[in-house]
Amino acid sequence: ALPVRDGQWQEYNDTIDQSLKRRSGMRTALRGALQRGELFLVYQPKVDIKTNRIVGAEALLRWENSIYGKVSPVEFIPLAEASGEILSIGRWVILEALVALKRWRALHQVDDDFSLAVNVSPLQLMQADFAQTLLDMVSDSGVPPCCLELEVTESGLMQDMELALKQLRRLIQYGFKVGIDDFGTGYSSLAYLKTLPISVLKIDRAFIHELQSSIQDQKLTGTVIDMARHFGFSTVAEGVEQSEQLDWLSSMGCDLVQGYMFAPPLKENELLKLIDSGVEH
Ligand code: C2E
Ligand code: CA
Ligand code: CA
Ligand code: CA
Repeated sequence: ALPVRDGQWQEYNDTIDQSLKRRSGMRTALRGALQRGELFLVYQPKVDIKTNRIVGAEALLRWENSIYGKVSPVEFIPLAEASGEILSIGRWVILEALVALKRWRALHQVDDDFSLAVNVSPLQLMQADFAQTLLDMVSDSGVPPCCLELEVTESGLMQDMELALKQLRRLIQYGFKVGIDDFGTGYSSLAYLKTLPISVLKIDRAFIHELQSSIQDQKLTGTVIDMARHFGFSTVAEGVEQSEQLDWLSSMGCDLVQGYMFAPPLKENELLKLIDSGVEH
């Protein structure tokens, strides 16, 4: 054992105890969150780097609870994944996104060129009927499948590559857009790229963060963008905060950008206002 003083040890134990309590309390609270109406979506615009127009958005989940306040998805998504709750929550996210998209289209705020992306948990992707269920939901909503984008993470694919590829092939065949999220943070990125039935590569914020100062990150990002073009994928850079980053991405031929520089995740009415007025930077 480490030579810690009793007081320190006690403190350490208390901290672990508290975080365990918080997590188990949250897990319970999360179970009824949907029914209590505590979950909602915010939307972060995706901007075409050439035209400076908003051509899509990513739906991001938010949870506000009476005990825990605003909880970050970074904290509660893993809990929902561990409990399996992510299946019903994920389904709700897709339905909610479709309802919103339908509304915006009916108001002529957006057209067929606008796509809304939702994050898909590995657990959802691994459900044998995921593609079919999605197709049914989209048919019911009247939104064309090409206006819905599924963001799946690289790590999600690695869990069962064969099944994941089968599912992605189906989604693409049905006309959905599929994007690989957090690209570059997983392991065997290059080897499987050629077999991936996808439409979009999302370059992780980790590579954008120090783009101005890191020659390594510039080379890496440039290579990923070239490679994506070669395979016929479009590219999105996430976490763009500064105009220097934007300039680099523009010179490298990146297609879309997303980040605080343009807008944080927004409430629906704020997004629609911004689509009307256009982004500035
Ligand atoms: P992600 O899919 O990589 O989403 C991007 C995250 O980066 C979002 O955090 C967004 O608010 C944040 N972000 C956007 N622009 C910037 C920027 O310029 N700078 C910085 N520092 N951050 C930026 P958020 O909303 O907290 O979501 C965190 C993660 O939670 C997401 O990462 C995603 O993995 C997960 N998540 C969110 N909503 C859902 C959902 O509906 N389903 C699932 N399965 N996961 C979700
Ligand atoms: Ca995402
Ligand atoms: Ca991402
Ligand atoms: Ca990320």
